[in-house]
Amino acid sequence: MSTNEPRLIPTGTCWCGCNSSVGLGSFFARGHDKTAEAALLAVLYDSSVARLLHHHGYGPDKSVLDAAVSEGGWEECPRCEYAGAPASVRNHTRKYHSG
Ligand SMILES: [Zn+2]
Ligand SMILES: [Zn+2]
Repeated sequence: MSTNEPRLIPTGTCWCGCNSSVGLGSFFARGHDKTAEAALLAVLYDSSVARLLHHHGYGPDKSVLDAAVSEGGWEECPRCEYAGAPASVRNHTRKYHSG
């Protein structure tokens, strides 16, 4: 990872802002990370992932997938254009390239 973000510590309360108590070591109640992600997208980018990408300089001319591979710890499928987190690439390979 190339991130300069500070290390975050879970606080025992769900970070989506719903005030639920969560177990030690978790930031979110189950599924609330997705809710928070969608909420942030709504607040900042009109719920448009295209706007989000464009804001950060990505799009059809600058691949966010390539950036994820070079800087985000993602891997590329050796057999096709698929890219994802290592576990995702393993699942993908099993599903699409087995046998
Ligand atoms: Zn929550
Ligand atoms: Zn593939």
